Amino acid sequence: MDTSSFADRDGFIWLNGKLVPWRDANIHVLTHGLHYASSVFEGERVYDGEIFKLQEHTDRLIESARILGFKIEQSADEINEACYQTVRANNIVDGYVRPIAWRGSEMMGVSAQSSRINLAVAAWVWPSYFSPEARMKGIRLKISPWRRPAPDTIPTQSKAAGLYMICTLSKHQAESEGYDDALMLDYRGQVAEATGANIFFVSNGVLHTPTPDCFLDGITRRTVIDLAKARGIEVVQRAIMPEEMAGFQECFLTGTAAEVTPVSSIGDYKFTPGEVCAALIKDYENCVRRKKAA
Ligand code: PMP
Repeated sequence: MDTSSFADRDGFIWLNGKLVPWRDANIHVLTHGLHYASSVFEGERVYDGEIFKLQEHTDRLIESARILGFKIEQSADEINEACYQTVRANNIVDGYVRPIAWRGSEMMGVSAQSSRINLAVAAWVWPSYFSPEARMKGIRLKISPWRRPAPDTIPTQSKAAGLYMICTLSKHQAESEGYDDALMLDYRGQVAEATGANIFFVSNGVLHTPTPDCFLDGITRRTVIDLAKARGIEVVQRAIMPEEMAGFQECFLTGTAAEVTPVSSIGDYKFTPGEVCAALIKDYENCVRRKKAA
């Protein structure tokens, strides 16, 4: 793996309409997106040269910007094309794509009505490192003291940079105590999600997952729900209180980066990754690497 800084790599980044050398994809320090978090982004995976569910990611990017009150200049088709241009320019077969849109430096203050909206797409090689067997060990989560805020506190359905401040705080704290990630409760004290992934539990063969009313309804989450239903597994979306975790047998996270990642413990609650985790890891792998129709 390339361990150099993300600012100092070979390759190309798509910036406001054209591919530029990676090291030249820079912005000024007086950028509204940097000072006031007027920035929205996506995280996409490339499998065998294809971006999984690209259209859904592009639609969410446009919607995230709209929720923050700005309009991305490019159409969905142009954004899709920019993603593929970036993937091809960097010769990526299995990797990650990061589109990002932000308010520029034309105005410096809370109000930025006439700032330019910028769009960039970066992509880098990022294979799935874990074999299904290694994944089945499960990761360990700590319950974060930070809570997902209410939808009338911050626009929770936007994949906006500002929402990630508490995710980084939660994850850093968990990592410093030897955990892999953090579970965040919401403002009501209900189970919400991890710092960059949604969460599912298994109880007697039935999947339970929190209703996404104050956090992202992830694209992977929706995919896994469909895969589970296709297997005849019942899926219940509902409010889940933390104490209920004592009664669940399996637990896993879903996300573009996390894919399907089993969890072995959350604080003092223990889970044993089993049949349902294994089946959905396999189904998800088959789904993202589906052979194109001949
Ligand atoms: N929640 C958060 C906070 C995330 O960052 C992500 C990753 N985008 C998800 C959930 C899962 O979303 P998706 O499956 O669309 O990647």
